[in-house]
Amino acid sequence: MPQPMRLPIEWSLPSPPKMIVRAVHLRCPRCGGSGIWRSWFKTKHACPTCDLVFERGESEDYWLGAYMFNLVAAELVSVGIAVIVIIVLWPNVPWNLVWGLSVILAILMPVLFLPFARNLWLAFDPMFRPPHPDHAAQDRVPPGSH
Ligand SMILES: [Zn+2]
Repeated sequence: MPQPMRLPIEWSLPSPPKMIVRAVHLRCPRCGGSGIWRSWFKTKHACPTCDLVFERGESEDYWLGAYMFNLVAAELVSVGIAVIVIIVLWPNVPWNLVWGLSVILAILMPVLFLPFARNLWLAFDPMFRPPHPDHAAQDRVPPGSH
């Protein structure tokens, strides 16, 4: 038996700082609801609480901005940590240790930051392209994807 379509709670957006704080806490940027993640790397199709569609109906290019944001932020943090280690240990810097640490951080940080970058992208995007009820109606959540 098909489930009745849920209507969105509201279509207004909270303030940008509130959306960003919710995104950093890995919650839905619009309603603050939890349970929006299918895995560490992927969100559900839409928010189970407010029905904000996370896949905004575009090609896979939609997440390019999130990946770019992720890479830049993660690598800046990696370089920042290496610089702090160098400054703290100066002049007796164990360069091999710094080099090894930098390589590990450069690989690990983008993986750790990915859900935060994706969620921040989800927070920024509706600020510039507010969701519309028609959009959600066209992109109804496929059964079983919540
Ligand atoms: Zn939501």
